[in-house]
Amino acid sequence: MLDNNRPTLPENMTVFERGWLSSNNLLLVGKKSSALIDSGYGLHAEQTVALVASTLAGRPLDLLLNTHLHSDHCGGNAALQNTYPDLVTHIPPGLSAHVQDWNPQALAYTPTGQQCQKFGFDALLRPGTDLQLGDQLWQVHAAPGHDPHSVILFEPVTRVLVSADALWERGFGVVFPELEGMAAFDDVAKTIDLIEALKPDIVIPGHGPAFSGVKKSIANARERLAGFVSHPEKHIKYATKVLLKFKLLEAQSLDIGSFIGWAGSTPYVVLIHERYFSTVDFFEWVDHLIEELVRSGAASRDGVMIRNAG
Ligand SMILES: [Zn+2]
Repeated sequence: MLDNNRPTLPENMTVFERGWLSSNNLLLVGKKSSALIDSGYGLHAEQTVALVASTLAGRPLDLLLNTHLHSDHCGGNAALQNTYPDLVTHIPPGLSAHVQDWNPQALAYTPTGQQCQKFGFDALLRPGTDLQLGDQLWQVHAAPGHDPHSVILFEPVTRVLVSADALWERGFGVVFPELEGMAAFDDVAKTIDLIEALKPDIVIPGHGPAFSGVKKSIANARERLAGFVSHPEKHIKYATKVLLKFKLLEAQSLDIGSFIGWAGSTPYVVLIHERYFSTVDFFEWVDHLIEELVRSGAASRDGVMIRNAG
């Protein structure tokens, strides 16, 4: 079936579309150097290295960049750094001190109950600067909202935008600062405005296939955002389900006791319960959310076993 929203990418750009546990990766191969944007989740690190190596066909990977430091975007960093000793890694400045000291709490790996193998970095990806990736000069833009320190990357000649989790074909990523009571919906709106002003022809999102027809996605994201602004509890519920679904994607199946045990030891889930749902028993609350995942087709349940689905 012909899909008008599926663009053809410039020849030197290869997207590894990775589903939801791992973010997408964009490999740019130039005449002199190669660069990879984002590296997926740690559980898939071996696959990330294999995808990169097979496309580069014997050439080394020269540059590695992360749009932001969520576990599903930089979980392959360590494996790539081990594979390519001369690899130069750029990360956004916001949390670089915590990468330097390796603080999984401050990097949100502990609060979200997610894993990320320790990695290092060599340079900062500063908003407002340009960077040679492959044969093109890419602009680095600040894109707060989903993550206060995220950047997005834009190449003005081919008009390709790497939007990370600031804009998907349908929607955008959980607005994490809001879970901790920090207002960030305005940042989401400003980042969407920025994307609109850049007028990209092709968007490579953090998750899902590359798309064109960005206007429709922007309208969709604004509508979704307006819904969250007027009903913040909808966002909180969505965020909690995303955290639970991520765990299911990682484990594939687990019994209800282990699932609730994981939730009870995951600070973000506990914080959300305390802050918004403290009148409901924790076990019942998580059980109810799992039921909703089952009803939406994102999980299946067979006695005490919960399985990933969808
Ligand atoms: Zn993210």
